[in-house]
Amino acid sequence: MPTPISHWISGKSVAGTSGNTAPVYNPATGEQTGAVDLASVEEVNTAVAAAKGALHAWSRTSLSKRSAVLFAFRELVHQHVDDLAAILTAEHGKVLADAKGEVSRGLENVEFATGIPQLMKGDYSEHAGTGVDVYSIRQPVGVVAGITPFNFPAMVPLWMCANAIACGNTFVLKPSEKDPSASLLIADLWKRAGLPDGVFNVVHGDKLSVDTLLDHPDVAALSFVGSTPIAKYIYERGTANGKRVQALGGAKNHMVVLPDADIDLAADSAVSAAYGAAGERCMAISVCVTVGDVADDLVPAISKRLPSLRIGDGSKDGNEMGPLITAEHRDKVASYIDAGEKAGATVTVDGRTAEVPEEGFFLGTTLLDNVTPEMTVYTDEIFGPVLSVVRCETFDEALQLVNDNPYANGTAIFTRDGGAAREFQSEVQVGMVGINVPIPVPVAYYSFGGWKDSLFGDTHMYGPEGIAFYTRGKVVTSRWPDPATSSVDLGFPTNR
Ligand code: NAD
Repeated sequence: MPTPISHWISGKSVAGTSGNTAPVYNPATGEQTGAVDLASVEEVNTAVAAAKGALHAWSRTSLSKRSAVLFAFRELVHQHVDDLAAILTAEHGKVLADAKGEVSRGLENVEFATGIPQLMKGDYSEHAGTGVDVYSIRQPVGVVAGITPFNFPAMVPLWMCANAIACGNTFVLKPSEKDPSASLLIADLWKRAGLPDGVFNVVHGDKLSVDTLLDHPDVAALSFVGSTPIAKYIYERGTANGKRVQALGGAKNHMVVLPDADIDLAADSAVSAAYGAAGERCMAISVCVTVGDVADDLVPAISKRLPSLRIGDGSKDGNEMGPLITAEHRDKVASYIDAGEKAGATVTVDGRTAEVPEEGFFLGTTLLDNVTPEMTVYTDEIFGPVLSVVRCETFDEALQLVNDNPYANGTAIFTRDGGAAREFQSEVQVGMVGINVPIPVPVAYYSFGGWKDSLFGDTHMYGPEGIAFYTRGKVVTSRWPDPATSSVDLGFPTNR
């Protein structure tokens, strides 16, 4: 029998009452292991009401007490890295080492948020006018919601909730219905860390739950991470309802390799970044842009590395790449390879015919050479273990290709020429850039976000921009004059 997966509201597990559930699979076996409750409008309203009820007290809890909860939470997540990773592997399919990496990148954000007393400090100007002082404070925005994708079921919720809660907001998480269980262990750890009930809530669901959050008058802000069409929809509907919204979308990340690059470094990096987590990363490299004749060395170097990758159940030691999230997604990825081949790409390594476990949603690694910009393997985000090689003659042509793409999440350049790398960093129209680093996910004290169709909204996620997103500024102008000096003055106040 699949395990029922319930909501978490007001500090406890709450079984769903809508009668609707969605299947949760172990992608490595293809077996249905769970049935997640899909919330009704009333159930989402209950979670928002719990968050609203907890808001006033939490927003007025001292910074040092909030920080103490964050420190306790940090310790608990740290102690439970293996448990969280096992859940991720069981429901997402990524291999255990990768799952632990995911948790540790999420944990960085908790560590950042422990510094909330420092992060929430305002400014103070004495004598801004004669006898007048001016100072700024930052206050929480209220009840905030997080809607997260299947590919990082622990890290992305931690990107959001650690800062949101540290800033004094209360939080409603709507995780991906494909791998929902990590969010419940996170909820339990928050409770054990001393977070008051109602400050962190989880509602599972589909479009109905998301739309209810988007329209709810008590939800002040919404953070979203997922695919571009949904990100755009979330941004438009949320902002039309007067909410603050940051909506991070999909990606097509290009790795430019210049003729002077170290071939082994570039090949190792391309393989790691294209096929890690079976390509189901928003910062995966999906296009290798070769300049000059570097492809003649790079393509064989990448091909040579692929047969030795161990593909299998992520919970078993030694496997390096797991399955895709669902059978449908695997088939969709394979259909992109069909389309690329038909359109004239060279299938240098073919994942469709690779030897992979029969059970589960596995697909081998694919390398497509001679891909051109009009092919769907180039235009679309495939989100699978497929790397396309586009050959360019010059640096300028490669840069133009990257800049013409509507996605602009991450990009990388591989070269030994500092001047070329600096020019690339300056001219490329992409939010996160790696120089000889294939997956440039910023550390938690910077902020994460793409440009163009990879992010809708003004602020990037986590780090300083996360704190800005989850707080509102207020500026106070004050004076303490001698009442005896008071007089009526209808002129506009000046600072002299
Ligand atoms: P998705 O857009 O299908 O789903 C994301 C969330 O939106 C889920 O919680 C889902 O339940 C909800 N949702 C789905 N359809 C909806 C609809 N019609 N209306 C309202 N809500 C809806 O994304 P996914 O398949 O879970 O995740 C993969 C995508 O996320 C990829 O495109 C990937 O690039 C992107 N991603 C981006 C980043 C980033 O930082 N930019 C990070 C991780 C993943």
